[in-house]
Amino acid sequence: MTFNDLGLIAPILNALETEGYKTPTPIQQQAIPIILQKRDILGCAQTGTGKTAAFAIPILQLLDAAHAERQQHRIKVLILTPTRELAIQIGESFAAYGRNLLMRHTVIFGGVPQGAQVQALKKGVDVLIATPGRLLDLINQGYINIKTLDIFVLDEADRMLDMGFIHDVKRVVAMLPQKRQTLFFSATMPPEIQKLANTILVNPEKVEV
Ligand code: AMP
Repeated sequence: MTFNDLGLIAPILNALETEGYKTPTPIQQQAIPIILQKRDILGCAQTGTGKTAAFAIPILQLLDAAHAERQQHRIKVLILTPTRELAIQIGESFAAYGRNLLMRHTVIFGGVPQGAQVQALKKGVDVLIATPGRLLDLINQGYINIKTLDIFVLDEADRMLDMGFIHDVKRVVAMLPQKRQTLFFSATMPPEIQKLANTILVNPEKVEV
C-alpha cells in the first residue's frame, strides 16, 4: 500500500515525499481512512509506530477541505499530550506534513513564560497542541476557547494517568462541544483509561498495532 492509495491530496503527498516517507505504517494504513470519514478512533499504539502522522495527516486533509472557514478566528483542532517534548514533536509533524498547506498551528506547554504563547494565540491558530496544565491556565485567563472545535485528539492517555494529569484531562474534556470528532490514543488500556475512552468516544473504530 502507498500513501496514494489512502486518497490523500497532492500537497500532502508531496510533503510526505519531501520527508522521505515511502509507505504508510500499519497504524497509518488503518487510521487514516477512518479519520478521513470523520469517525472516532480508539487507537492502541506506542510512540515509534508512526502514530503522530496517523492522526496529523488526515487532520490536515480535513482542515484543508474546510478551507472556506480558514479565516475564522477559531481553534478547530486540539491535541492534548502529556509532555513538552511530545508537544514540540507533534508541532514539528504538523509543520512538516502541512508545509504545502495554509494551516496555522501553535504549541503551548508549561515551565516557560506564557507571553510568546499568548502572542501566537492572538494571531489565530487552526491547530492547538498543548499540555494539560498550561492549556487550563490559558483557558482560565480567557486566551483560549475550545468550545467550538471540530476535532479533539487525546495522545498518550495512559501516560496522562501515570503523570497525574487525568483530572486536568477530564476538566478539558468537560469544556469540549458534544458534537466533535475524537481520536483517543494510548499504549495500554488500564481500566481507568478504558472508562475514560468510553465516556468521550462515540461509536469508535478500534485500531491496534
Ligand atoms: P511516532 O510514532 O509518531 O513518534 O513516529 C516515529 C518516527 O517515524 C518519526 O520520526 C516519524 O518521522 C517517522 N515516520 C512516521 N511515519 C513514517 C512513514 N510512513 N515512513 C517513514 N517514517 C515514518
